[in-house]
Amino acid sequence: MRVLVWNEFIHEQRNAEVRAIYPDGIHQAIAAHLGAFDVRTATLQDEEHGLGADVLEGTDVLIWWGHLAHDRVDDNVVSRVHQRVLQGMGLIVLHSGHLSKIFTRLMGTTCNLRWREAEDRELVWCVSPEHPIAAGVPQPLELPLHEMYGEFFDIPAPDELVFVSNFSGGEVFRSGCCFQRGKGRIFYFSPGHETYPIYHRADVGQVLMNAVRWAANAHPSAVQTRTSPMSPTGWWRQESVGAP
Ligand code: ZN
Repeated sequence: MRVLVWNEFIHEQRNAEVRAIYPDGIHQAIAAHLGAFDVRTATLQDEEHGLGADVLEGTDVLIWWGHLAHDRVDDNVVSRVHQRVLQGMGLIVLHSGHLSKIFTRLMGTTCNLRWREAEDRELVWCVSPEHPIAAGVPQPLELPLHEMYGEFFDIPAPDELVFVSNFSGGEVFRSGCCFQRGKGRIFYFSPGHETYPIYHRADVGQVLMNAVRWAANAHPSAVQTRTSPMSPTGWWRQESVGAP
């Protein structure tokens, strides 16, 4: 299983507080949990953001963390990632990635939400105890200090809802949401504000490991989905039927 952890990698270089928590970058902290897989990392600063066609062809699951520089992600790269998701690449979008170009394109909505940086306590409650992403995850998963993300979260109704968070300020939030687009599985997981050591936690690492396994397409297919073939009457008598 080939996993690519993508991070815009800006907060860690600009902000000493964030750098103290993630000296090697958020991407390395996430990758540290995924040693069971063939894990690589890429950042915004890499050529083609480290998301060239060959790299994406060799990626089963892409993990995305971005915040300050959504607009600086090249539209051609976003289209390439989008195509790969439709073909079956898994995508895990974390925290402020809710406003990334790739997530808003896949969702088709604004993906806006309510937020506050005020050291709330977040409890991440599992609402699908049988779901593979919840396996081995404490109930609830308690984050003593975290940014508040609250409803309304402008996303389409998730295909599966795994986690709902509640905050000490009273808000609730759909914090673990599954979607399918084309052949690709998408998981959005909201914990991970850069000024808290969220990605150093073993329980969060467990969620990420589970999500990678869930998002990986166990049955990749070469079926062509990029074209809509004009099909004269009787075409299916003359061609071998197999592809849509
Ligand atoms: Zn944040």
